[in-house]
Amino acid sequence: NADMAMYRAKQLGRNNYQFFTPELDAQAHRRISLESKLRRGIEQGELELHFQPVVSSGSGKIHGAEALVRWRHEGELIAPGEFIPLAEESGLILPLGEWVLRTAAGRARAWQDAGYRLGLSINLSSRQFTDQELVKLYLAVLADTGLEPGRLYFEITESLLMKEIDRAQHILGALRDIGGKFYLDDFGTGYSSLAYLKRLPLDGLKIDRSFIRDIESDADSRAIVEAIVSLAQTLHLAIVAEGVETTEQLGFLQGMGPMLIQGYLASPPVPAERFDALLRQGDSLLPPSTTANANGP
Ligand code: C2E
Ligand code: MG
Ligand code: MG
Ligand code: MG
Repeated sequence: NADMAMYRAKQLGRNNYQFFTPELDAQAHRRISLESKLRRGIEQGELELHFQPVVSSGSGKIHGAEALVRWRHEGELIAPGEFIPLAEESGLILPLGEWVLRTAAGRARAWQDAGYRLGLSINLSSRQFTDQELVKLYLAVLADTGLEPGRLYFEITESLLMKEIDRAQHILGALRDIGGKFYLDDFGTGYSSLAYLKRLPLDGLKIDRSFIRDIESDADSRAIVEAIVSLAQTLHLAIVAEGVETTEQLGFLQGMGPMLIQGYLASPPVPAERFDALLRQGDSLLPPSTTANANGP
């Protein structure tokens, strides 16, 4: 029983006893079993890549996409929020990240062959980013797929960069030398020094969706979005507004000049075949403009 377990554990040493309570034991077991399921899942092809269109604020046409991983396990489609943290802790993020990179590059190559010039972003987690092999892997993937360099964007976060800024600068530089591009993801939620924006070879900022969500209700959020946009314009960085869900949000953003829009209003992340269908249709994915249409109705 619990008391006995605790007693025995305590005898094993001060620093260990907490791991032997039945509750934590069960938790640890769940984690270990989920981890081995994920490991097997990666090996057995249970990962899927979905693609969320990124569109131009003016035309609504597809400009690129973000690749987002899902895990199809026992008939369920599991969101990355539920397994990326585990993958990071366990080190499985390295094989997972490699699969994502290879699969994304394969799609990008297919679009290239079909005559589309799209930018495709993939998310990097800090563990991958400090991996010595990342530059080599990226080179190998380019060679294996024949993808023209400059099509892939790596999405990185402020906290990832700030952890080890010198090393980050080094890896970014090495990737950039071979065509890698970079978006700073979830921008505004971290605590990076603005000076780093100048020091790092960034191509764009993705405004975190928490600011977009509150555009209508909160003057501070509007002010923050405006500040980020003008900062990006000054530094000649592209801007992607994340999580755009309403025509009101879109109207506000369109009023600030050209940018890129990503969000359910344009499209949720979709499987590759669906994305390709949207691409072939070539239609605007945005509703007609409400406020920013200079030509009127
Ligand atoms: P993220 O990179 O910020 O990706 C954007 C997330 O916002 C996606 O969630 C997307 O489905 C969601 N989203 C897009 N538009 C809207 C909208 O209009 N409203 C709302 N409410 N949500 C929207 P998802 O796919 O669940 O991914 C969550 C996070 O998991 C990502 O955040 C990213 O940090 C991480 N992730 C996803 N795929 C990968 C991957 O391949 N590798 C790594 N390391 N991380 C990944
Ligand atoms: Mg992202
Ligand atoms: Mg994001
Ligand atoms: Mg986000």
